[in-house]
Amino acid sequence: MNTTQNLIDVAIPLPLEGPFTYRVPDELLERAHTGRRVLVPFRNKIRAGFVVGICENGHIPGEIKDVVDIPDEKPYTTAQLWSFIRWAANYYLIPAGLMLKTALPPGSDRKSKPWAILTPDGKHEFTRSGHTFPPKFMKSGSILRHDLEVLIGSAAVEEALAKEWITIEERISRPRTTLKKKHIPELLYPAGAQVGPGERAPELTPDQARTVARIAEALAGGGFHPFLVFGVTGSGKTEVYLHAIQTMIDMGKRALVLVPEIALTPQLARRFLRRFGGGVGIFHSGFTPGQRLDEWRRIQSGKVNVVIAARSGIFLPIENLGLLIVDEEHDPSYKQEDSCPYNARDMAIARGKLEGACVVLGSATPSFESFVNAQRGKITRLDLPSRYHGGALPAVELVDLKTNTKNNRSFLTPRLINAVRETLDKHEQVVIFLNRRGFDTFAQCRSCGHVFKCPNCDISLTHHKRARDLRCHLCGFSQAAPPLCPACTSERLFFGGVGTQKVEEELSALFPDARIERLDRDSTRKREDLEGILDRFRKKEIDILTGTQMIVKGHDFPGISLVGILCGDLSLHFPDFRAAERTFQMLTQVAGRTGRESDSGKVILQTFDPDHEAIQYAASHAYEDFFRKDSVLREELSYPPYGHLILVRVEGNSEKRVEDRAIKIGSAARRLKEGNPDIMILGPAPSPRKKMVGRFRWQLLFKSATRNPIRLLVKSLQEEGCLKSHGLKIVVNVDPVDLM
Ligand code: ADP
Ligand code: ZN
Ligand code: ZN
Repeated sequence: MNTTQNLIDVAIPLPLEGPFTYRVPDELLERAHTGRRVLVPFRNKIRAGFVVGICENGHIPGEIKDVVDIPDEKPYTTAQLWSFIRWAANYYLIPAGLMLKTALPPGSDRKSKPWAILTPDGKHEFTRSGHTFPPKFMKSGSILRHDLEVLIGSAAVEEALAKEWITIEERISRPRTTLKKKHIPELLYPAGAQVGPGERAPELTPDQARTVARIAEALAGGGFHPFLVFGVTGSGKTEVYLHAIQTMIDMGKRALVLVPEIALTPQLARRFLRRFGGGVGIFHSGFTPGQRLDEWRRIQSGKVNVVIAARSGIFLPIENLGLLIVDEEHDPSYKQEDSCPYNARDMAIARGKLEGACVVLGSATPSFESFVNAQRGKITRLDLPSRYHGGALPAVELVDLKTNTKNNRSFLTPRLINAVRETLDKHEQVVIFLNRRGFDTFAQCRSCGHVFKCPNCDISLTHHKRARDLRCHLCGFSQAAPPLCPACTSERLFFGGVGTQKVEEELSALFPDARIERLDRDSTRKREDLEGILDRFRKKEIDILTGTQMIVKGHDFPGISLVGILCGDLSLHFPDFRAAERTFQMLTQVAGRTGRESDSGKVILQTFDPDHEAIQYAASHAYEDFFRKDSVLREELSYPPYGHLILVRVEGNSEKRVEDRAIKIGSAARRLKEGNPDIMILGPAPSPRKKMVGRFRWQLLFKSATRNPIRLLVKSLQEEGCLKSHGLKIVVNVDPVDLM
């Protein structure tokens, strides 16, 4: 505390830089510690802010306002977390206040509202004047101004104000301060989970033991140390995490485990609970805001040793954090892409550095970013090359869709249908995977598999039905959709896709006796639906499970002996330079669902493009060969991880305004770039998802071999006010993952 003036620095969760200085009145001094939530006057409102430091400046120019209240019993954040948030905001070119807003659990932000207060005069005059104030207001003497306007009209409110029958006062509803009585695990953990003293850890395989030993050594040494655990599917990475966490707990420190949102299955929670008992915290968006707030508080209070969380958990106020784990680190869901984009995987590394903690990234199919970091010696690579149960990785049979389809629409080939039948006859389980992801308007020849690509960007062109042309969404290149395939002159050009529901119907017709279920975002609106289906599948009450990405992630089902991949290329031709990497990852992960307990697992991978390296190498489980092949062109074109990208996207209701603004940004950027050969500007061009939820989208992509040139460029654009426009949303996305 600034002893003479009682001044503190307060961060406000608004898109502003901050922090702001306030004075603490004497009666609140006792509670005015770093991390506390405070109520302060800010721009004619009273808002919640967070104490991020004691103001050391002896003299602050201008008027300093007083803190209004410090409502909670306990602190909210930590000084360390604020440093981290500020670091992240700077890295992502976002105001610190906005990053703070993103970091905090919902419900922690408070803002006052104007209330109408009945004056003594008003009470008196009212009775005589024959006006009709609502009786409730007359009784209580206060009402939200808005409600009063609804009830008697705004003209009457203005009149009452002028006559001083009422006054307007900014009031804030009291923030929730009490924790729910019931401890979170009992509320939220899956039924049947044992919150006990912790089961005994199983014996590790030699590979696992070696990996754990290396991590334990780093933990004992203290300080930042990043690892990449590169372990094939079913190699027992989770067991490695559990052991490393135990080591950490034994040393009196805490661990944070990030998992992709979708993989946050009850199964994983059960496994952690069985091992670590009640000292486990769980944090993800499936919780209600209240639950998240409670769990945040519980974690802040230091009652848990290990937290499992989705990406937003990267901001949890965990003190004495010694170990961060990012499971399935390649998963694109770690990247938040809305108005406050950040990548939780990269932030885990940053937080580890900042707090001097070990970081473990784990995957069977590492992101190229992490793999290159390992090659460059920035991350220590640890391999788990074999499956725990000793079984081989499943055999993958390629089926060429060009020659094996009966018609242009169905994706169930005779070969796949046969394999499903054989598996069902043996009373074993089948998974049918369709990568749909809602965007599949690439153009491809069904005779030879030719895909139309941009000559400038090497990404697939998007087919636009109405204009009947093919366009590149990065650079704006376009060409008329040809009637014949330029490679083989066939007329069988295919635009569009196929949905899981149709596949389910086809399967039901073919196998009327089989118990078939579908797992995708439509069939699992609610969490319980997802859990229910997964549970029944595990209990073998389902014979065929069809689905999208959801069935790929980390689930451990021992009973699957056939995985059918309907069209391995669907994602190969997304207009994204990571399309091949994503496809390889997905195919490897899907294939990894089978043969987990025995050698009997089989995968049928259907594709138009059996010779494509992503397909070939996924079929032979050859990550490194694939990496070597696919990284050549990326390096040549300076795409990540060999270069850096910032995406600027303009969104709005008026197509004209969006386009105009994008063009304006483009010309400003080209002017600023003048004479700097390090920067490449792609666009402006309409986004591939040109219109989303009624809003139009245009984008620009900035690219440079090193990080700084494009950062400086975007900063200049921000300073010039180019990236702000009333009624338009302009998002700066550093290290974008979703380019669509
Ligand atoms: P991954 O995450 O690498 O795909 P998991 O950690 O889920 O693999 O392990 C695959 C299966 O092997 C799981 O059923 C797990 O319980 C089992 N397993 C892994 N390691 C061991 C071990 N050391 N002892 C006993 N079972 C193990
Ligand atoms: Zn062709
Ligand atoms: Zn292009």
